[in-house]
Amino acid sequence: MSKKIRGISLLAFFLIIIGLVVVRSVTTSKAAEIKNLTSAEIDKARQFNQAPGPALAAGYFAPILTFHHIAPLPPQADKIEKNLHVLPADFNNMLQALIAGQYKLVFVSELADYLARGEKPPRDWVALSFDDGYEDFYTYVFPLLKQYNLKVSLYVITEMNGGVYLTRSQIKELDLSGLVEIGSHTVDHPVLAKLPPAKQMIELLRSKETLDALLGKPTKIICYPYGAYDKTTEVLAKQAGYQYGLTYNHRPLRDSRDLFAIDRVGVWSDMNVVKFLQGLSLRKP
Ligand SMILES: [Zn+2]
Repeated sequence: MSKKIRGISLLAFFLIIIGLVVVRSVTTSKAAEIKNLTSAEIDKARQFNQAPGPALAAGYFAPILTFHHIAPLPPQADKIEKNLHVLPADFNNMLQALIAGQYKLVFVSELADYLARGEKPPRDWVALSFDDGYEDFYTYVFPLLKQYNLKVSLYVITEMNGGVYLTRSQIKELDLSGLVEIGSHTVDHPVLAKLPPAKQMIELLRSKETLDALLGKPTKIICYPYGAYDKTTEVLAKQAGYQYGLTYNHRPLRDSRDLFAIDRVGVWSDMNVVKFLQGLSLRKP
């Protein structure tokens, strides 16, 4: 390597580091604007979210909750759109209820890692997942994650970039925050099980390659659009290099060993999430 090239690489390296520091400080300063809990409550929530959870009692079904839009309802929203929206104030209330209920928000991969080892996740764990990668995630969810120091998982459609969807640079910023785990939701959101295997593979592989390159690390999770998959999809997802595949079937996560058919539950705006979770913890396996 010539001296000149080495000098340029060193300079590039330092510019990247400076860039990361700037992104970090910008994201932390924005968080200070939101005040919903007292500072003592926030400290408690922060501490709680860094502490390990207690051991699991028998019969617990750890849940992965699924959201789409966190945003005000668009004018003339039909029933489907209403079901896909949780209003920002309701979402904030849900987060506060989860914090007050001493639930620990973890990445989907952290829950799935337990399943992969044949173990049950701690009983107070819950994973929040967001499908499609809408821009409203950046506007309404990200500031609250920073404020409460909470972790969630986000599944993006790699063909979408900007408009009502997150831009690539927003996705990168979310990943760098350490609070958002990014996974694939395919290239352009088809019903995978209806595609021939070769086309399914393109959706699985290209979206993974895009995210791997953007974020500089292997993408672990594929979230099937509409929760639709079949056995071929599962085999192809594994071949494409994913560790886990997620469905969307309104079932709480069972003690499942099928790592390419992990269940999730949808959440709507006035759902009492804590009551729902308490109900699960009482259920027998
Ligand atoms: Zn979707």
